[in-house]
Amino acid sequence: MPELPEVETIRSQLEKLIVGKKITKVDVGLPRMVKLSLDKFRKIVVGAKIESIGRRAKILIFGLSNGWSMLIHLKLSGRLIFRKKGEILKDEDAKWNHLIYYFQDGSRLFHNDLRQFGYVKLIETDKLADFFKKEKLGPEPLKKYFTFEDFSAILKRKPKAKIKQFLMDQQNISGIGNIYSDEILFFAGVHPLRKISELKPKETKKTFQGIKKILTEALKLQGSSVDLYLNALGKEGEYVPRLKVYGREGEKCKKCGGAIQRLKIGGRSAHYCPSCQKVLN
Ligand SMILES: [Zn+2]
Repeated sequence: MPELPEVETIRSQLEKLIVGKKITKVDVGLPRMVKLSLDKFRKIVVGAKIESIGRRAKILIFGLSNGWSMLIHLKLSGRLIFRKKGEILKDEDAKWNHLIYYFQDGSRLFHNDLRQFGYVKLIETDKLADFFKKEKLGPEPLKKYFTFEDFSAILKRKPKAKIKQFLMDQQNISGIGNIYSDEILFFAGVHPLRKISELKPKETKKTFQGIKKILTEALKLQGSSVDLYLNALGKEGEYVPRLKVYGREGEKCKKCGGAIQRLKIGGRSAHYCPSCQKVLN
C-alpha cells in the first residue's frame, strides 16, 4: 500500500502537473469506486478547475474551484498517472483504468487500481475539517510540530499495544503502513511484538528518530515500488534497495548477517532481524 512517502510523492508531482487545469470530461469504468451517484459526481467535477492538491495521512485532497474537494485514497494498489497530450499510457499500466480525468489542454490523469479498494469522495471544502475530525487521524509525522514529546504522549495512551501495530494505526500517527513500520523498528532495534509499556526510554527515542529519518529518506527517493506503486509520472520509486527488512524474509541482515524473518501480526506480516531486534534486551 502506498504510504506517506509514496502518496506525498504523487501529491507534489500532481501539484506541478495539474493545478490550474480544468477538467473537461471524466470516464468512469468502475462506478463503485466513486462514493456518490455518478450523475452528481460528473456534475460537480466536470467544468471545475483544480486549485490545489493537498494530503492528509494517505488521502489526497484535490481542491476544486467550485467549493468542493475531491478526496482520493489509493488504498492497496491504486495509482494516479499523468500523461501529457498525445502521450500514451502503456497497456500494462492501463489495464485497470477505473477513472480517467481529461483536462482542457489534452492531458489526462489515469486512476487505476488492480485490487479496487481505493475510493473517490466529494466533500464540500468548508466541511473538510469536520470530515477529518471524524476520521480521528493522528499527527503528520514529518511536520516540525510533531515532536518527541507528542510521540511519547501518544504512546502513553496505548500501553498494551504492540509497537508494530501501534505505528500502523492511522489514529496514532498518520501515513505509516507495513513497509515503513518494519524499517523504523529495524532502525530502532525494537522487535515488532514489543509491548509499548515495556519499551525503554532509549528505544522510544530511537523509534521516534526512525520515524523522522526513514520517512524523510524514503520521500527523497520517491518511495518504494514494492507491489504496484508507481509515481504520478508512471515511474518506480527508488527506495527498495535501501530496505533493510521489509520483503527480505530469508535474506541476510545488512547489519549482522543473520537471516531476516517474517511473522504474522493481526493479519499483517512483520519483517525483522531476530538478533538486531530482540524480544527482550
Ligand atoms: Zn541483524
